[in-house]
Amino acid sequence: MQVDHVVCAFCGCDCDDISVTVEGDRITKAGNACVLGKSWFLSHGTPSDLPVARIEGRPVDLDRGIDEAARCLANARYPLIYGLSSTSSEAQRKSVALAEVLGGCIDCCTSVCHGPSGMALQGVGEPTCTLGEVKNRADLIVYWGSNPAESHPRHMARYAVTPKGMFVPEGRKGRTVVLVDVRPTPSARAADIFLLIKPGKDFEVLWALQALVNGQKPDVTSMEDTGLTYDQLTGLADRMMGCKFGVIFVGQGLTQTRGRHFNTSAAFLLVRALNRHTKFALIPMRGHGNVTGVDNVLAWQTGYPFGVNFSLGYPRFNPGEYTVVDLLSRGEADAALVVAADPVASLPAKAVRRLTGIPLIALDTHESETTRSARIAFTTSTAGIHVRGTVYRMDNIPIHLRKVLDSAYPSDEDVIDRLLARVKELKAC
Ligand code: SF4
Repeated sequence: MQVDHVVCAFCGCDCDDISVTVEGDRITKAGNACVLGKSWFLSHGTPSDLPVARIEGRPVDLDRGIDEAARCLANARYPLIYGLSSTSSEAQRKSVALAEVLGGCIDCCTSVCHGPSGMALQGVGEPTCTLGEVKNRADLIVYWGSNPAESHPRHMARYAVTPKGMFVPEGRKGRTVVLVDVRPTPSARAADIFLLIKPGKDFEVLWALQALVNGQKPDVTSMEDTGLTYDQLTGLADRMMGCKFGVIFVGQGLTQTRGRHFNTSAAFLLVRALNRHTKFALIPMRGHGNVTGVDNVLAWQTGYPFGVNFSLGYPRFNPGEYTVVDLLSRGEADAALVVAADPVASLPAKAVRRLTGIPLIALDTHESETTRSARIAFTTSTAGIHVRGTVYRMDNIPIHLRKVLDSAYPSDEDVIDRLLARVKELKAC
């Protein structure tokens, strides 16, 4: 059986044109998907033999797992909920409700990737657009500190570089592509212009570009250690001001290097200045399939996009205090619920030591370092393969996920909903 218009929820492109072939109880083909998407469909579309719940490695039934996990969370003084970037927005919404009832912290993968973009957005505003506008209008594409050829393999072909658009009928020939990075990456081969800047100099380059766009003349000598010549800088500024519709896609090369949210603020301010000359926008290259969704869900429910604390009964936001690495490294969190993420494999060693030393509950569709280290692990079904749901594409457009296979496992939303109900009962006692 072939199912068309299926969404690949692996990366922030959330491509919704995948043709999935189902044979029996498994997915055997994922037409149109890139290599990452194919791997996601084939691995998640294969039956698993993991138990639905485990306590210290021993299989238990779902009720027992829920009860034990709810007790761990309800008894904690400062519980943490973390992850949520690869699950549905329905599950994210329940997780916010659980964090509020627990009076703990909720943080998502944003705090270790595009958190600085969220802070910059709140500081200076976000001049942005949709990927549909990029496809139909953009004649200048700037990738800054991102490598879409490897991280988002269909981004260039589906949205930004080669597609023919309403006002870009020539497709690739009608666009200029600029890549700014600290090293040549495979994406450089697709660029017309590659600008190699020195590590940690993004802010200086962005600020100088903003000055040029505002009609000022930055000090030539101050540009010497950025890696770019003055002519390269003025050439880029002229090209930006002279295009009809330009877009900067920023990656973690900008947000997770020296300057962080100052870098992204400088990029937003550059785009704001460019809009006095032409149409320009900026879109963060969000990694996981629904990491944009968790920012949206948290923001509409609490006002803040990540690192939210409920210990006083109302939401508070303070990156560096309520964010996962900081909470764990300082030894503050005393129980953790991790949903659809693998922090044990990705966070700094000090944070991982704390995470694996406290009662850890993990929900995931497959075995990971985190589920292996968890005191209580739940196996859940995959949103977009086994259950419907909603994800947000990197340009904040909600996309509805289809179901293509049945699963014996509950969804993340089901498990979190049951945890929420049980925690409420325990707190009422
Ligand atoms: S680009 Fe991303 S969303 Fe699209 S098929 Fe590849 S992994 Fe999936």
